[in-house]
Amino acid sequence: MKLHCKIEIHDRTLSLNRKSQRSILAYAKDSVKDSNVCFYLWTRLNKQGTKYKITNNIRKVFKKFITDGKATISLIEPCHDLIIQSDAIQLKSFLNILKHITDGHCKDIDKYILKSNTTFNSSEFYSLQKVVVKKKSEYPILQGFPRMTEQLVLSGLDRKSFDRQILTLQSLKFLDLSNNKISFLPKELGTLPHLQALNLSCNNLGKSVRSKWAWLEQTALRSNLDFLNISNNLLTELPAQIGWLKALRELKIRDNMLRQLPQNIGTLNKLQLLDVAKNNLMFLPGTIQHLRLCSLDISDNLFSMIVNHNIVFDKSIFIGLPSLVESSARNVLKSRITYDASLIPYTLVQYLDEAKYCFSCKNACFDCYSKIFTHFYSSKFSIHIKNSLNQPFKFECYFCSMTCHNYYVRRCIE
Ligand SMILES: [Zn+2]
Repeated sequence: MKLHCKIEIHDRTLSLNRKSQRSILAYAKDSVKDSNVCFYLWTRLNKQGTKYKITNNIRKVFKKFITDGKATISLIEPCHDLIIQSDAIQLKSFLNILKHITDGHCKDIDKYILKSNTTFNSSEFYSLQKVVVKKKSEYPILQGFPRMTEQLVLSGLDRKSFDRQILTLQSLKFLDLSNNKISFLPKELGTLPHLQALNLSCNNLGKSVRSKWAWLEQTALRSNLDFLNISNNLLTELPAQIGWLKALRELKIRDNMLRQLPQNIGTLNKLQLLDVAKNNLMFLPGTIQHLRLCSLDISDNLFSMIVNHNIVFDKSIFIGLPSLVESSARNVLKSRITYDASLIPYTLVQYLDEAKYCFSCKNACFDCYSKIFTHFYSSKFSIHIKNSLNQPFKFECYFCSMTCHNYYVRRCIE
């Protein structure tokens, strides 16, 4: 058996850790007659492999985190601890065989053994990582996807539902489900620990009332997702949970039916690319101007309905004494306390998610605010904006207090 894994070698004599590397572990014998089984460790740079004796050479095997796919084999000679990360099931069977060998119960061990002079080319270290299914007939319904898959492309297969097999791929980083007919994603999608890029373009998200967004609320996705493409779906609104994706750099939501964007989109500090072309937007959240975007595409929206006014043409003021709920909610967001439905009631989570952000001081406000619509021409904006018709477009700017409101208005007049 071959165990595809990542291994970090800790040298106990030098107290040195070598960086984790993609590796293959397998049992081998030097010759057919040889009764001593050993195991080899191959990496991309060490294609001949390093041999480790097994008999009387295993100091200890640490298996406390085996269900997470982690274990350590500590060897006597050389003084190496092999810190292994792999698919939990495969790792378990690898360690079971090891136990049989050390206990001397290895009758049919030959079926698990490779030749000691086996070499692997670089592609072997990669081959299992990327899986592309191009036709429905090639879909691995029974055998499943390789457990160590890092990139999975299931595009254009006419799938109506999300395949729950994907949830077992704990190493998955890139998932392309574009050009299918998927309308529902399970909450567990957001718990995949390494998922960084998700392409869901050209699907049916928004079609079903079951289009729940709980998958966006999961901690793993919130801290890792870097790229999200939900263009060409049937979305009429974008959930406020989008504002939770703090690692997001690229967000593509073109070709939907969005009427507005959530205010907290302006809190995605790492966002560099935002594509909202071909929607029904009549204005943008003013907080977008706080982002350090490299590219913003707002072409083909409904901004043309704006009359050519000068700066301020519509305002509403609801400034009074903030309620206790509002005051505490403002403080929670100001102090950047993390919250979710496991800590506070879901209604409060929703309340916090619907925060508006002050255009002047960037602090949150809720029911106590003033609002101004301002409009701009792309040419007067510091971000490079793709705006096919060069229409003026409108920003919806909120203010947390009259001080912030007046500060902005004064600056506009000057
Ligand atoms: Zn303010």
